[in-house]
Amino acid sequence: MKIICIGQNYAEHIKELKSAFPEKPVYFLKPDTCLIKNNQPFYLPDFSNDLHHEVEIVIKINRLGKSIEEKFANRYYNELTVGIDFTARDLQREAKSKGLPWEIAKAFDGSAPIGKFISIDTIKNINDLNFELKINDLIVQKGNTSDMIFNVDKIISYVSQFMTLKIGDLIYTGTPSGVGPVKISDKLTASIEGKTLLEFYVK
Ligand code: MG
Repeated sequence: MKIICIGQNYAEHIKELKSAFPEKPVYFLKPDTCLIKNNQPFYLPDFSNDLHHEVEIVIKINRLGKSIEEKFANRYYNELTVGIDFTARDLQREAKSKGLPWEIAKAFDGSAPIGKFISIDTIKNINDLNFELKINDLIVQKGNTSDMIFNVDKIISYVSQFMTLKIGDLIYTGTPSGVGPVKISDKLTASIEGKTLLEFYVK
């Protein structure tokens, strides 16, 4: 399986990183060795001094698809959750400044904690979904999927022009503003509409 991550999908986050507004979805990949499941701890890597959290809504693909039309994209997923797209911001800044790829900053082991999946039938509208991240019980990121520049169906349609989507593939759909560093012993708690789906410690 592959993990597809969308970058720069919330206007306020683009502003905080001083990035340019995308005309098309921007995506990158993480390998499956990034996943952390079942609320297992995240071990702070020693190669970064500025390791940031990015809370994101995550969609699980449940059908094989290629060149999916936007109007049919909703047939390709029926579960979602929250995840963290951990980012070594210092390494990312360096790569960006040299025009190099981001994998070193994004695709390292353990960089994608993933929550418990819920059925799409349990939510009202995927395009109007509140989600948030707390660190040590203080809210640090708050988002609503209605603020996405490219919504889930647009993302699926766009990415599937270039890559076949397979059963079990995950799509991290971008982070709202409020990204920032984590430190050892922090407790991260991520929820959708007040329901906690992911909770783990930084070690
Ligand atoms: Mg991200």
